[in-house]
Amino acid sequence: MLTTAPVQRQAARVGKPGRHAIVIGSGLGGLAAAIRLGARGYRVTVLERLDGPGGRAYVFRQDGFTFDAGPTIITAPFLLEELWSLAGRSLSQDIDLRPLDPFYRIRFHDGETLDCYADEEEMRAEVARLSPGDVDGFEAFMEKSAEIYRVGFEELGAVPFANFSDMVKVLPDFVRLASYKSVYAFASRYVRDPRLRFALSFHPLFVGGNPFKVTSIYGLIACLERRHGVHFAMGGTGRIVEGMVGLIKRQGNEIRYNAEVAEVLVENGAATGVRLASGERIKSDIVVSNADTAWTYRNLVPSHARKRWSDKKIDRASYSMGLFVWYFGTARRYPDVKHHTILLGPRYKELLGDIFDRHTLADDFSLYLHRPTATDPSLAPEGCDAFYVLSPVPHLDAGIDWSAQTNAYREAIAKVLDAVALPGFQEHIVTSRIMTPQDFHDRLLSHKGAAFSFEPLFTQSAWFRPHNKSEDVEGLYLVGAGTHPGAGVPGVLCSAKILDQVVPHAALL
Ligand SMILES: Cc1cc2nc3c(=O)[nH]c(=O)nc-3n(C[C@H](O)[C@H](O)[C@H](O)COP(=O)(O)OP(=O)(O)OC[C@H]3O[C@@H](n4cnc5c(N)ncnc54)[C@H](O)[C@@H]3O)c2cc1C
Repeated sequence: MLTTAPVQRQAARVGKPGRHAIVIGSGLGGLAAAIRLGARGYRVTVLERLDGPGGRAYVFRQDGFTFDAGPTIITAPFLLEELWSLAGRSLSQDIDLRPLDPFYRIRFHDGETLDCYADEEEMRAEVARLSPGDVDGFEAFMEKSAEIYRVGFEELGAVPFANFSDMVKVLPDFVRLASYKSVYAFASRYVRDPRLRFALSFHPLFVGGNPFKVTSIYGLIACLERRHGVHFAMGGTGRIVEGMVGLIKRQGNEIRYNAEVAEVLVENGAATGVRLASGERIKSDIVVSNADTAWTYRNLVPSHARKRWSDKKIDRASYSMGLFVWYFGTARRYPDVKHHTILLGPRYKELLGDIFDRHTLADDFSLYLHRPTATDPSLAPEGCDAFYVLSPVPHLDAGIDWSAQTNAYREAIAKVLDAVALPGFQEHIVTSRIMTPQDFHDRLLSHKGAAFSFEPLFTQSAWFRPHNKSEDVEGLYLVGAGTHPGAGVPGVLCSAKILDQVVPHAALL
């Protein structure tokens, strides 16, 4: 890992001429922003409160195991390629990105499975095996998904939505594509089998949205996966983080760890730099916050400088669910378990209602099980497997005392895993760690411990979401999951891409 910045390099940065940009946070959105600003003539300083980069994509290493803390499903690799080329390299020089096929396996509560393949013929056969009457509907769904992808991703993914008129312009498209429907309603128009309805609608959960509430625009993800593949970076997603840090350093710029920003300094309505928790003040021409957007406005930008994003507005917003993530390593391998498996419980809509609306911790689960050693055995000692299992749970408004609940919840998950995926695995566990919504709050400074920031409802998307160019403070910009277009690796990389349109080139400042 390039997590420890060489001292000589940092020293060499002092005195480099040019406009200075501060990036708060080294999540994937922050790193991408730093690379883009570096390519546009800025001297960039990334300030990260943790001891290493990545944010949700941080890497935990323990007992010989490597655990990517968060994202592992890499879609839209062209967005990464763009960053590498901006820094004068090609992605393949640094990252060995492997396409996965099947993308993932879904195991339904009745014990039946569906493997989602890149290959169209194989996928059609898999749908026919599960529900012969739904093959035509599935094909029609994929065609519609391609149409939504063209508008929602290719045309609008990197539009800043800074003005309401941008929103008005796209309304006819939204109406034509029936974006007022939920993803689940959209999928249900095409297929009858409830298991297929799940398989075609669950994707918004990867970006913090309830498929029964988010707009059917998220139906584009099925097309994104098929068109550009689902990939895994050999060595783990941490390699991508490491590679991005390498690009920033190549550009002659700097990342400082253990550097928590306590305040964005604002004079006459414009950002002039930051104050660190240590008391140090750093001046800059612009500030880009990749810290949680709600946290940025509520805790870093003084309230007198905020008109639109008042504490009240932030508190009234809806937030995505939290996540309970259990990372563990086993002293044996489980070759029958795919790289990505979704294990469904008995309930779908009702479980999501408990999590998103009623904010209660249910007794049943739907789980996502990650086994990266299926693709890259080097992530665990020889003969061992690395895993994480993730369970969507309510965010902190539920009032769950995670310090008291963690063990019981982990045991309940273990029981399900034991029954449906990893018989007897608990005896073989040799290393383990857990992240709860409380950790998302305390470690990543995530408002309400939400895993994906603002819930991606229509009323909290595009123009309605906090803008990439702050509406409140001149010279303050936002990237990451809480701003437009939203969470997920492609989303936060696109948020950084939007900076190219809203931040003036350093030479023009
Ligand atoms: C468990 C999990 C699995 C996921 N899986 C996938 C997946 O497979 N595919 C996918 O596309 N997406 C996935 N996602 C979503 C994706 O990981 C996130 O949306 C994305 O990584 C968020 O990036 P970000 O730019 O918003 O920054 P974040 O990752 O949120 O990072 C923000 C950074 O800012 C730092 N920071 C905060 N406050 C301050 C401060 N005051 N001063 C200094 N630094 C500060 C934090 O320490 C952190 O490093 C997953 C998310 C999680 C949690």
